Amino acid sequence: MRQLADLQFDNRFARLGDTFSTRVSPEPLSNPRLVVSSTSAMALLDLNPDEAHSALFTELFSGHKIWSSAEPRAMVYSGHQFGGYNPKLGDGRGLLLGEVVNQAGEHWDLHLKGAGSTPYSRMGDGRAVPRSSIREFLASEALHALGIPSSRALCVTLGDNPVYREREERAAMLLRLAPSHIRFGHFEYFYYTRQHEALRELLDFTLTSCYPHCLSEPQPELALYREVLQRTAEMIAGWQAYGFCHGVMNTDNMSIMGITFDFGPYAFMDAFNIHHVCNHSDHEGRYAFHRQPAIAQWNLACLAQSLTPFIEVDVLKAEIAAFMPTFEQHYLRLMRRRLGWEGSEEGDKALIEQLLQLMQDSGSDFNLSLRLLAEGNAEVRDHFVDRDAFDRWQRQHQQRQDSPEVQQDALLANPVYVLRNYLAQNAIAAAEQGDFSEVRKLHNLLATPFTAQPDCADYAAAPPDWGRHLEISCSS
Ligand code: AMP
Ligand code: MG
Ligand code: MG
Repeated sequence: MRQLADLQFDNRFARLGDTFSTRVSPEPLSNPRLVVSSTSAMALLDLNPDEAHSALFTELFSGHKIWSSAEPRAMVYSGHQFGGYNPKLGDGRGLLLGEVVNQAGEHWDLHLKGAGSTPYSRMGDGRAVPRSSIREFLASEALHALGIPSSRALCVTLGDNPVYREREERAAMLLRLAPSHIRFGHFEYFYYTRQHEALRELLDFTLTSCYPHCLSEPQPELALYREVLQRTAEMIAGWQAYGFCHGVMNTDNMSIMGITFDFGPYAFMDAFNIHHVCNHSDHEGRYAFHRQPAIAQWNLACLAQSLTPFIEVDVLKAEIAAFMPTFEQHYLRLMRRRLGWEGSEEGDKALIEQLLQLMQDSGSDFNLSLRLLAEGNAEVRDHFVDRDAFDRWQRQHQQRQDSPEVQQDALLANPVYVLRNYLAQNAIAAAEQGDFSEVRKLHNLLATPFTAQPDCADYAAAPPDWGRHLEISCSS
C-alpha cells in the first residue's frame, strides 16, 4: 500500500516538452465534495480505499492541491470529427497531471477532466458538469467489470462553481486513469502539420512507453500498428457483444491503447435496435450501433495515413484489411460464450444473426434476453412477439448448449446489471440534489455485474416506459 501523499511520479510524456503539451495549472472547484470513488481503480495506484474519505483526497482531485512531483499539462492533438478533419483540438478541459508508477512498476496516467481552461479550450469554459462526469465514471468502471478494455475512473468531485450549458449547472471533475492518453489524433496532428521529426519522436515514445515488446520486431512501427488494430478490433467486439454504443467515435476519441476512451452521449442499448443512434446530435447516424466496426476501421485508416512517412502504403492497406476478420473472430467468441455454446460451428454466425433479427422484430431487451437465455429461464419467450419463430430458434440453440460447464460459464458472461441510461439518469438527478447514495449504489452493482444482489431486482429489469427514449446530447 502507498499513502496518497506519497505517490511516485515519472512524467515521461511531460519530458517530451512543449511541442507535445503545455504546462497549465488546474482551476480548483469551490467547496468541493467527493461524489464517488472506485476501490478497484484506487488499487491500481496501491491506495487503501479508506484514503478516499480523507480531506486530502478531495483536495487533490478538485484541483486544490497538487503533488510536488506532478506536472499538469494539456496535450495537443487534432482529429477527424464526424468524418471531417479538425486541425486543432487538444485537451480543452482536462489535464494530464502526471504518470504514477505503482509498486508493480506500471505507469498510470492521471488525467483530471474539468480542470479549467487551457490553450486548447477554443470557445469552451474548460469545465465539466456532474452529469457527464458521473456518466463517464459509471461507464468506464462498468465496461471494465464486463471485461471490455476501457480507461478507468478514480473518482468524481463536485463544486459550487456555476457552469452554463442549456441550463445552469455546477462544475465537477473526474479523475481518469489510463496506461496512456495518446490518441489517434496525436499522430494526425504532427502528420498534418508536417512535423515529421516530432511525429517520429511521438512514435518512438509510444513504442518505448506502451509497446516495448514491439521494439524487438523487425519493423517495430508496423508491429505497433498491427497491435493497435488488433486491440481496437477486440474492444469493438466487446461493444457489439454487450450492446454498447459509443456515440462519438471521432479519431481524437480513439486510444492508442485500444481501450474505450472519452465518453460522451454513449448508451448501453435497452431494446435491441441494430440501427440505434445514441448521440442526439448525430443526425446522419454516422456512429449508429451497426456502423461501429466499420467506423473503427475507418479511424484505423486515418491512423495509418499518419504513419505513411514510416510504413509503406501497401503494407498498411494489407493490415487494415485484417480488421473485419479479427473483429468477427472476437465477436463470435464473446457471443458464443454469452450463449453457452461450446467450440465453434459452421452455422453459429447465422444463428446469432437470427436471434438478433428476432430481437429487432420484437424490440426485446438485448442484455436481459441474453441473461434469461443463459439462466435457462422460460420467461425469455415472453420477450419475443413471434413465439413460433423463437421456439424454432431455441431448439437449435439448445442443440448447441451441450456442455453443462460452458452453460455455467455463460452466467459469468451475462450481466444481471447493465448501465442503462435511465439508471444513470436517476443517479445523476439525485446527485444534482446533493444525494450521492444512488451513484454509489449503482457503481457498486456495476462493479460486480454478474452477481445478483438482494433487494435490487428493479435494477436488473428492463426500463420503465419513461426511461426508454432518453435523449443525450453532446453538451457536456
Ligand atoms: P469531446 O467531444 O469531449 O471529445 O471534445 C472535443 C474537443 O472539445 C476536445 O478538444 C475537448 O477538450 C474540447 N472540449 C469539450 N468540452 C469543452 C469545454 N467545456 N471547454 C473546453 N474545451 C472543451
Ligand atoms: Mg474527446
Ligand atoms: Mg469528451
